[in-house]
Amino acid sequence: MRMTVDFGEIPNIYMVLTSFFIFAFLFGSGQHRAANHRLREAVDLALSMDMDKPRAYDSLDPETRDQWLRTYLVLSVTERTFAHQKRYTIKSRGSPTANACFIRAFGSFTSYSAHRDKTDSMGMISLLYLMEAYNAIDESVVGCWAGYCKYSHGHCEDFDRRLALRMFRAQERAREDWLAGSISSEPSTPLPSVHQLLESQQVDIVVTHFWLLNKIWELCMSHGLLRDDSEHRELRLDFAYHVAYKFGTSCHAMNLHALEFHGFGIVEKIVDITMGLIKAVNSSTQLSLESSLTDYDPLTDKTTVPGPSVRLVLGNLHQIVQNLRGGSHDYVSRLTMALEAVPGYSGAAEPHHSVA
Ligand SMILES: [Zn+2]
Repeated sequence: MRMTVDFGEIPNIYMVLTSFFIFAFLFGSGQHRAANHRLREAVDLALSMDMDKPRAYDSLDPETRDQWLRTYLVLSVTERTFAHQKRYTIKSRGSPTANACFIRAFGSFTSYSAHRDKTDSMGMISLLYLMEAYNAIDESVVGCWAGYCKYSHGHCEDFDRRLALRMFRAQERAREDWLAGSISSEPSTPLPSVHQLLESQQVDIVVTHFWLLNKIWELCMSHGLLRDDSEHRELRLDFAYHVAYKFGTSCHAMNLHALEFHGFGIVEKIVDITMGLIKAVNSSTQLSLESSLTDYDPLTDKTTVPGPSVRLVLGNLHQIVQNLRGGSHDYVSRLTMALEAVPGYSGAAEPHHSVA
């Protein structure tokens, strides 16, 4: 079907889903450029069907509307994840949650919750939490990740300190909502306890929170906004330590299989967060492998107790990457090489935690 010259002229939901499943297969087998092509194809087809426009849902029966809405949400989240991970731009514009809320005003979500089984509802709730996390990322900066900064007088027009801080705050709110079991864009929607979500769903959301925090911080680094002594803790080089340490602690509480459920995408995110701390050590004049910082949760700013050394935090994350999928993937050697390039890091330090 995809070989015909007029493929896509009359798109339907099955074409969208087929392209998406091919994307998932290609991504899982490490063929990322081909995967990106199929993801764009799926998004293109969905946009041709106006799946991002609430009015397109008017004429649909409840079951089809549910299917469209879920497909649209999955595509939006996946496209944003892929864009941030692989430095590609995104096609679907507009806040996914805002659109989803609008669509819900037509009664789709209500019918969904009322008539679908618990597994479906949990999947939908899990998607909403992911959407809230991605909504914290201003779309205007996605181009910056892809290397398309617009410079004016030596400064990027799209990303600056003010926007960075706003995105950090939005990410913190997304995390707080998750911990409180609510979604700020849907305050009137009674949500089940987050503990009712599957462990793999919880893992996906928690990892996404920390990873997006790391991505914003990395963007700050590439735009020259980080300092050793910034008045804003998020704009300090040692912020990467707090993200990495808290993330490692969260991983420690997760089941290894729930982490592995998400394939190599999750390994890549853990490597990204670890690389963030390595970059901080290499760039800072104050942060060393033996530094042990006063602990605080980068997302909720609670508790102050002495944290482990940078070396232990790195060793812990290295160990988690080694444990995932039996360590039989390229990410282990990539991370090992990056760690060994840090002056003074032997690579033989005892891990602080290990994933059970
Ligand atoms: Zn930029």
